[in-house]
Amino acid sequence: MPITVATSNDERRREEIRSLLGDGLKAEIFPRADTHEEVQAIVARLGHAGNDLKSKLIIGGFTSYPVEHAGIEQSCETCMYYLVHRKYCELPELDCPVEPEWSCRLWRI
Ligand code: SF4
Repeated sequence: MPITVATSNDERRREEIRSLLGDGLKAEIFPRADTHEEVQAIVARLGHAGNDLKSKLIIGGFTSYPVEHAGIEQSCETCMYYLVHRKYCELPELDCPVEPEWSCRLWRI
């Protein structure tokens, strides 16, 4: 795949996220967003976080590994918001590059 401005921007952003996750970020991994109300509450907080990447990762409960919840292994790779070819989360409130094995508490099938 040719390197485009978009892919190189994605890679820079992905590296930034990887570094924040590796720095022992205290993300709100639980509770997971199981109900519509829980999703809406988290999405509203993400909206207030604006472009603050670290806050978004904390509120979203990001991890660099899949999270087991209710008997399901939740990872970006199996989430409905994951764009396989771009390795990207298209949930508007997150809108960021990810890795397939990462996870967040807004995971949806
Ligand atoms: S919403 Fe889905 S694709 Fe986006 S970060 Fe969370 S688990 Fe990954």
